Amino acid sequence: MPRTYPLEKTRNIGIIAHIDAGKTTTTERILYYTGITYKVGEVHEGTTVTDWMPQERERGITIVSAAITCFWTPSYLEQENKNKDKEFKINIIDTPGHVDFTAEVERSLRVLDGAVVVFDGVQGVEAQSETVWRQADKYNVPRICFINKIDRMGADFEFSLKSIHERLTKDATLITLPIGQEENFQGVIDLISMREVYFEGDKGEKVVFKQIDPSRQNEAEKWRHIFIEKLAESDEEFLHKYLANEYNETDIRMAIRRATLKYHFIPVYVGSSLKNKGVQLLLDGVVDFLPSPLDLSYPKGTDPLTNQEIQRKPDDNEPLSALIFKIAVDPYVGTLSYVRVYSGVLQSGMTVLNTTSGQSFRVGRIARMHANHREEIPELFAGDIGAIVGIKDLKTGDTLADPKAPIIYEKIEFAEPVIWLKVEPKTKADQEKMGSAIKALVNEDPTFSFTQDLETGDTLIGGMGELHLEIKVDRLKREFNVDVNVGKPQVAYKETVMKEGVAEGKYIRQSGGRGQYGHVWLKVEPLPRGSGIEFVNAIRGGIIPDNFIPSVEKGVREAIQKGVLAGYPLQDIKVTLFDGSFHEVDSSDIAFKIAGSIALQESVKQANPILLEPIMKLEIVIPPEFLGDITGDLSSRRAKIEEVFDRGMSKVIRAQAPLAEMFGYVTVVRSLTQGRGTCIMEFSHYSEVPTSISQSIIENLSLAKK
Ligand code: GDP
Repeated sequence: MPRTYPLEKTRNIGIIAHIDAGKTTTTERILYYTGITYKVGEVHEGTTVTDWMPQERERGITIVSAAITCFWTPSYLEQENKNKDKEFKINIIDTPGHVDFTAEVERSLRVLDGAVVVFDGVQGVEAQSETVWRQADKYNVPRICFINKIDRMGADFEFSLKSIHERLTKDATLITLPIGQEENFQGVIDLISMREVYFEGDKGEKVVFKQIDPSRQNEAEKWRHIFIEKLAESDEEFLHKYLANEYNETDIRMAIRRATLKYHFIPVYVGSSLKNKGVQLLLDGVVDFLPSPLDLSYPKGTDPLTNQEIQRKPDDNEPLSALIFKIAVDPYVGTLSYVRVYSGVLQSGMTVLNTTSGQSFRVGRIARMHANHREEIPELFAGDIGAIVGIKDLKTGDTLADPKAPIIYEKIEFAEPVIWLKVEPKTKADQEKMGSAIKALVNEDPTFSFTQDLETGDTLIGGMGELHLEIKVDRLKREFNVDVNVGKPQVAYKETVMKEGVAEGKYIRQSGGRGQYGHVWLKVEPLPRGSGIEFVNAIRGGIIPDNFIPSVEKGVREAIQKGVLAGYPLQDIKVTLFDGSFHEVDSSDIAFKIAGSIALQESVKQANPILLEPIMKLEIVIPPEFLGDITGDLSSRRAKIEEVFDRGMSKVIRAQAPLAEMFGYVTVVRSLTQGRGTCIMEFSHYSEVPTSISQSIIENLSLAKK
């Protein structure tokens, strides 16, 4: 089948926001207006179509990034112009709004081309809006903003815009203006066409343009002036037209598009998703100003055979390359692997190479997700997004390629777990299903993992925070019917060294027959936080033959998994193999591996080993009268308060605190503030555990082992 939508009419977008800003409601309205949903679902009725899992509905947060396809023709085009040629295809990648799931946000930012950032018109910029904004900066995602909830009591678009300017970017520029606010919010003034826009009909589906009322003319002109000046500053081509005073609506739209794609300009819309006002103009913005796959620089990959950097054009005639960005298990069809095709065509029935795992497989069915149904399609073209159905062993982050032209896209990097939880099956039946259920969850989410404690046989699950693990346990029960008892959460401590240490490792056995001979000298030294482990081979002149070096490294890497203080994995160290000896007959891989392990442990003991603990970043929002209680409590938790400031009527406290002190903290905030405070917590970095505390951790651990 030929492609029906040219690439330049394709938009892959994400909607990102702080929790509760209205992302779900806005997505709902978008799906409604694009004609795919037939009934507008309300979050509180639990009928929204992007939120799939029962616990998402209960918690009111979107955890899973599903990709949904819809179609849109700009609303300002006259009716007769709205033929199919003017239609755009929009793939919406749903992103989570909770900080425990930043990895999911990052993952979706990788595969989308542009973003809509939704703000609460009462709160302005909130903690998570800042986090996702920075993430979008990291992936160079062009974006447009939507100040939502203009109808709410306390809504203030100027305050919200100011908070965007102060906290995010000066380039944010209002291109629609609200007509009235709070309960008087009626419609918007479109500053591009200088018309009033009203949204009539039951669900605001009818977009009506009117002349600007004389009473609002001055205000509209003031904001239009700010907007046009900013645009002239941001785009040279437009500057010339502006200076010559010769420009029309099309010139303005084209200039906004160019400047938005270059990150020089960020269009800001206002509206109320709940009251069905302003969403269609936002959709116009998506198709007019956000990039198509052709507008962006092509992603770079590596040729796995030569290790050379290579690039593929977003072109159907190039060899296939694609990235798996989400695995979801659907109760009806089984595993859905969401995929973004970067080049070539992914066809059902073709054999593709999973470059990441090295396995080839035959693509069975391919599906496109719409708001309320799944459509089977024969192929996905370059730049498009869909899902491969029923292939079990694909993982998030895998690259798929034409077996004759392999490429591997840079893997998405995810943090390691900072918290572990023991899970115990309740019954024998649970025990039988638990392993495969946990594996299915691990395939979906690279920040979630599990391990077996070799000494106790316990199964531990690991993740990025308490809520993250709570949700996994909940899903085990609901989706896989596996009931588990959970233990107390455990902090994922790490170990490292503070200075240089040198030691010898010998594994020599010579008692009749063939002996064993491995002998090495290692040096360990500290690296900056976050560097990981570096192994350097500095052996010269064959003192240890080359073929044994990988065995030494293997022994070192195994020993690194178990530090000398309390058995936590070591990190941020450089290990140099600089001396040793061998025996013509007795030396073997295993002898050098053991010698490597011994030398590593000994050299770490010489190097002043210490414990590291995960530090969390907190933002706590409370009514001012509780400030004293909260800060008092925080100081008893070894927290460092970094900033306290006002946001609207609330106090905001920014702090950092060790995870070990923060279990159950969200509930603590609620009870200290009579349920009115909120707290969000996100992993920040690893830092040294104070000596007195590290002593007791080590003692407790050795007691537990006795
Ligand atoms: P999300 O967490 O960002 O997905 O936010 P939701 O869409 O779930 O919205 C959070 C709450 O705000 C829900 O109770 C919505 O009904 C409400 N809400 C969303 N948009 C608006 C709006 O435009 N005006 C008002 N007053 N409430 C809204």
